Amino acid sequence: MSKQPAPAPAPVPAPATEPAAPVEEKKPEKKAKPKAPKRRIQVYKLYKVDGDSLARLRKECPRCGKGYFMAQHGDRLTCGHCGYTTYAQKKQDPHA
Ligand SMILES: [Zn+2]
Repeated sequence: MSKQPAPAPAPVPAPATEPAAPVEEKKPEKKAKPKAPKRRIQVYKLYKVDGDSLARLRKECPRCGKGYFMAQHGDRLTCGHCGYTTYAQKKQDPHA
C-alpha cells in the first residue's frame, strides 16, 4: 500500500455570481379543462311536420321575432339571443 492517493484536483473556482436578475413572477399555469365536444343546435327538433302542416314546438321570442325560439326551463322560457325571459304563472296563488 505504497500508493499515495492521487492529489485531489484543484477545486474549480466557482463561476462569478452574476448580478441577481429580477426574478420573474411565474404565473400558475392554467390547467386546460377537458372540453366537451361542441354540439350544434339541432334545429329540426324545434319543428314538427305533420303532413303539409308545420308546427313549432317552442314559443318564439316576442322581441327577436320569427326564428328565435325560447328555451324551456323548469319554470321559465328564455331567449338565448336577447335574454328575454317569461316565467310560467303558478297555478296556486300564494296570497289566496
Ligand atoms: Zn329574444
